[in-house]
Amino acid sequence: MTNKRAAPLLLLAAAAASCAAAKPQRPSPWAASNPDWIERFEPFKVHGSVYYVGTRGLSSFLVATPSGHILVDGGLPENARVIADNVRSLGFDVRDVKYLLNSHAHVDHSGGLARLKEMAGATMVASQEDAWALETGLVPGSETDPAFSAPPVKVDRTIADGESLSLGGVTLTARLSPGHTKGCTTWAMNSGELEILFFCSGTVAANSLVNPPQYEGIVEDYRATFAKAKTWTPDVFLANHPGFFDMEERRARQKAGAQDAFVDRGAFGVHLAALEAAFEKALAEQSAKSRDE
Ligand SMILES: [Zn+2]
Repeated sequence: MTNKRAAPLLLLAAAAASCAAAKPQRPSPWAASNPDWIERFEPFKVHGSVYYVGTRGLSSFLVATPSGHILVDGGLPENARVIADNVRSLGFDVRDVKYLLNSHAHVDHSGGLARLKEMAGATMVASQEDAWALETGLVPGSETDPAFSAPPVKVDRTIADGESLSLGGVTLTARLSPGHTKGCTTWAMNSGELEILFFCSGTVAANSLVNPPQYEGIVEDYRATFAKAKTWTPDVFLANHPGFFDMEERRARQKAGAQDAFVDRGAFGVHLAALEAAFEKALAEQSAKSRDE
């Protein structure tokens, strides 16, 4: 019988454009095959107090407040220094980051958190369901696969669905959206009249959905997340892979003078519909493959 635990490795190449995991080396294999993941990109203000501080291929966001800052996602392990440099070049200090958040515990978004936490002395906030993965640096269901490992980071505070985090007049609310990981966490924030959504993910990527599933209940989780997310109508949709929200194209329009280039009330719905269709297709394919073996 085929070891289904090996399947994620075979799927990694296909998953590269959406989400995957990488070995914490310098340069990591994933950086070698996805050079834009570590390629510097000029940081900029997205909207209101939200700034883009990631690389060309992996998003990180700074929410700046007078009482300190919130940083969402750490990229690959080798991205921590780049993110800190981007924060500095915007006129902020990484040591003023009070809270570190993570969309989900995969090394391309959590890898840099341990180093950033050292630099900032910040409080790491995560869902209970992803805390184990962050603290061990392992991915449930692929624990023995070194390609999935990340530098462990201690979680100081866990947050549940619907709970909020406030700092300096800014409030972010956690919307757990499991499937991509069991603790996948979307964050929603109101900025003036607008709602800004930091969406976790809904891609299948390297996840095994059946026989055995990456974790028990993963299919039900994905479907419940898609159903729940259909009720979300953010004005500004952001994600941990910049291609998902057309970051470069919107940034180019913004630089050309379109101040609201990132305000697009239809963008999230379009992305979500594509994710759901891709999920059902992947589930059918994995199920058929499973029956054939
Ligand atoms: Zn992921």
